[in-house]
Amino acid sequence: MESAAIAPNPLPNYINGEWCASHATEFLNVVNPATAEVLTKVPLSPQSDVNAAATAAATAYHSWRRTPPTERVQYLFKLKFLLEEHLDELARTITLECGKTLAESRGEMQRAIENVEVACGIPMLMQGYNLEDIARGIDEIMIRQPVGVVAIIAPFNFPGMIPFWFLPYAIACGNTCIVKPSERVPLTMQKVFELLENTGLPKGVINLVNGAKEAVDAILEHPTIRAISFVGSSPVAQYVYSRAATFGKRVQCQGGAKNPIIVLPDADMEMTTRITADSAFGCAGQRCLAASLAVTVGEARHTFTEAIANSAQTRMVGYGLDEKVQMGPVITSQSRDRIEGLIQQGANEGATVLVDGRNPKISGYEQGNFIRPTILQNVNPNSELARTEVFGPVLGLMHLDTIEDAIALVNSGQWGNMACLFTNSGAAARKFRYEAEAGNIGINIGVAAPMAFFPFSGWKDSFYGDLHGQGRHAVEFFTQTKVVVERWPKDWSRQF
Ligand code: NAD
Repeated sequence: MESAAIAPNPLPNYINGEWCASHATEFLNVVNPATAEVLTKVPLSPQSDVNAAATAAATAYHSWRRTPPTERVQYLFKLKFLLEEHLDELARTITLECGKTLAESRGEMQRAIENVEVACGIPMLMQGYNLEDIARGIDEIMIRQPVGVVAIIAPFNFPGMIPFWFLPYAIACGNTCIVKPSERVPLTMQKVFELLENTGLPKGVINLVNGAKEAVDAILEHPTIRAISFVGSSPVAQYVYSRAATFGKRVQCQGGAKNPIIVLPDADMEMTTRITADSAFGCAGQRCLAASLAVTVGEARHTFTEAIANSAQTRMVGYGLDEKVQMGPVITSQSRDRIEGLIQQGANEGATVLVDGRNPKISGYEQGNFIRPTILQNVNPNSELARTEVFGPVLGLMHLDTIEDAIALVNSGQWGNMACLFTNSGAAARKFRYEAEAGNIGINIGVAAPMAFFPFSGWKDSFYGDLHGQGRHAVEFFTQTKVVVERWPKDWSRQF
């Protein structure tokens, strides 16, 4: 059993530089999805906890925004080294509460660290611009200033990485911050905040409030909180976007997805199959960039289908802490039941279950939320399975005759997070890149995840807002522009 050594029970919040008990009256069990072991309890913090965090952040803001950017990033340099030093412990915590494999958890923390590295460039990234003599003797300057108190609301599937799409940029730009992790995976941020505390950041600059809807609603309504970064499912993203706007806040909301990949007959089939399987089944399909539909064009159908089925059948499923395991469980038993229901519905609506991963027996982990990789063939494009985000290790196969048909299918859906093409043709790749309606495009890539110095884009119902997480977009989101027009009509000849 793993729980005792790793966390206080119940988990505290971190407000104004102190670990403190929540005023919650309700608590949820945090459960290891592979073993069903209860790891700890998380408080569902009420409005009063959010109020305390907002007050602390507002108080800290006054001097934090006056701290030179060159000094602010020194805390991030320290954080980078602390994250690297504790990477294995953080990865283990992610695997314990989220279920993914240790290799996936390590990769996740690596992506988090890359965002810290990029934010260390704030003294350059945050600069404005100017022009002398916009009229005779008049100059104009654009300055970027922080927004104030900002909040980050995160989903369960990347407990270590996703807050880092925002947090390092927010504080490097001079904002103070409240993080609300997913109530299903709060342990990783608990560990991250222990490291943040060790950087010596002034009290109140970063605050951690555990909880769920009540805490989110309190964030949305709090007058001091000026900007909100949200990542999660599209219905909640839509709610947060509209509610935050009602209260006059700046808001960016990254939502759900249904990601198609297109396989042309000239693609390298060995590479395509390997990459597609990693995309569809990696992190047990619980990635917003997971391939969920594979559309073969022309002759690609036969070779691809056989190879991907083989890859699904041979993937080793089990407890993520076992280094040999290639795929862990899904997050909850409710998730598993929902995914199995969608597989059945897909079959009822015309698809053939080519590889059936339902009800697996994973020896020693009978209580875990496991589903093996599943493949459905001839998915009906109008079925629920073709349109709905599954968020599990399920790949639907479709066949179309031309690349034009495939692009039309990509563009017909409500989602726009990612679309990928596998081909050896530059002309086909160019056409796809130009026409596909999605924010992240992969050409011979299965998980088109932008590096920290590019925006994590998303279109249509996969994103509400205009500025995305990471890189320059994050810097713009966490700063407001001020334009100064100035004239100094002094007659210097008389003074000297
Ligand atoms: P979720 O929407 O259930 O939860 C996200 C956050 O919102 C959590 O912090 C949760 O406490 C809060 N929340 C949940 N219900 C709420 C409500 N009714 N009112 C207010 N707050 C609420 O999402 P999840 O299940 O944790 O995460 C999976 C989803 O996130 C998937 O849809 C996935 O595609 C999406 N996701 C998107 C991206 C992206 O970049 N587009 C990245 C990762 C995950």
